[in-house]
Formats: sequence, C-alpha cells, structure tokens
Amino acid sequence: MQRTSSAFEPSGIAANLALVRDRIAQAAARAGRRADEITLVAVSKTFPAEAIRMAYQIGVRHFGENRVQEWEAKSAQLEDLQGATWHLIGHLQGNKAKKAARQFDRVDSVDSLELARRLDAAAREAGRRLAILLEVKLGGEETKSGIAVAELAATAEGVTSLESLELRGLMAIPPYFGDPARARPFFRELRQLRDDLTRQTNRELCVLSMGMSHDFEFAIEEGATEIRVGTALFGQRAKAGDAGQN
Ligand SMILES: *Cc1c(COP(=O)(O)O)cnc(C)c1O
Repeated sequence: MQRTSSAFEPSGIAANLALVRDRIAQAAARAGRRADEITLVAVSKTFPAEAIRMAYQIGVRHFGENRVQEWEAKSAQLEDLQGATWHLIGHLQGNKAKKAARQFDRVDSVDSLELARRLDAAAREAGRRLAILLEVKLGGEETKSGIAVAELAATAEGVTSLESLELRGLMAIPPYFGDPARARPFFRELRQLRDDLTRQTNRELCVLSMGMSHDFEFAIEEGATEIRVGTALFGQRAKAGDAGQN
C-alpha cells in the first residue's frame, strides 16, 4: 500500500481558509442565508496530522477522513485537540465497522442497512451512540457508492429502529462536472429527498452534507448545511489518497 502524504504549505492554510470562508459568505448571502448556518468540514485525507493541527489552531473544528487506518495513525498525534468533530466520509467495509464506531464521532458515508446494523452493534458494544448520515447515490452509474434513491426510504426506516445510531441527515457526492453549475439539480434533489424523509420518519434530519471544493457555492444555494472541502483548504492531494477505500 502506498503511504504518500500530500505536501502542504503551512502559511497557505490560513490564506486558503480565508478564501473559503469568503466564498461561503458570498454564496450564503446570495441565498439569503447566514454563513454561520453552514458547517465547514475540512477534508484532511492524505494530509499529515500537522496540517490538521494547523487548521484547528485557526478555528476549524470539523474534519473529514476517508480511511479508518489513516485516521488511526494520525489521531494518535492529535489527542489533545479538544472539541473537534471527526467525520468518516469514505466508503466503509463491514469488517471495519467496529474500529470506525470507536474512532469517529460521525460516519457520514453509511450506504447500506447492513453496514448500519454493524455500526449499531459496534456502537452498543462501545457503550455509545453514534451519529450517522446516509449517503445517497445521485446520478446513477457515474457515482460509485451510496444508497439508490429507490431504496432510501426503506433504508432510513430500518436505521431509525437501531437504538445505538442517531440518523442526522443525508450526504451525497454528485457526478463531477467541469462546469460546477451542472451539479445544482443533484443538490436540489438531495434536499428534496431530505425533506421527504423528514416527513416520512417524523424526525429532524437537520444535516445536508453536500458540496466540495469546486462546487460548494451551488450546494449552499441549494440548502447545504455542511460542505466538505479538501483541496481548496489544504492544496492538491497526492493521487494515491483520492481513491482511498476502507
Ligand atoms: C475527498 C473528498 C472531499 C473533498 O474533495 P475536494 O474536491 O478536495 O474538496 C469531499 N467529500 C468526500 C466524500 C471526499 O472523499
């Protein structure tokens, strides 16, 4: 397995963060929303623990990692960071559910009822409740992971009966478009699905995690409550980390 770490420029992170916050503020203003309604999840996959520490020191409190093992190694160096929320955002294999349920505050990439059941059992064993999002597959064939739209309602219904999991909302990665405006209908669809599901399950599904470095303005305009931003904060990643799976 390749263990390349992406290079990062310490002084660059603060400047990048200011730019990202500015883009958030402008998109929120266009949509008549408050910028502080939108949580920035800094996607730190492939970047070293020092990059996370740096972002933490300038106010970032949510971090997204896509591999359990990579986070295990980094988290050992970051135990002193208080009040941060650690999100798993990458596809998770059932056999890693136990570790994931212990090491993350929220699993944003739950893509089957089977996985949810495993996380529920693991969380119960660890004596905790685990917050999760359901990842929805938008855009058919082009998107790799996520729950098919046709199966979302049944999956959500099943998840709400699992006592050690707390369903908070939905996450999606729409297909990549050179013109990010083309992602807008997918963001709109996810919001609609969230609203439908809120009625159906009679629960508050507050979180809509959608939008990445190149398209988050459109996601914010369509109602994102969380955006997941890697490149725009930390810089380009080494290629190997991008395809990271658990
Ligand atoms: C890598 C990743 C991101 C961040 O992507 P950028 O384009 O670098 O902002 C967001 N969400 C998920 C699920 C990812 O895997």
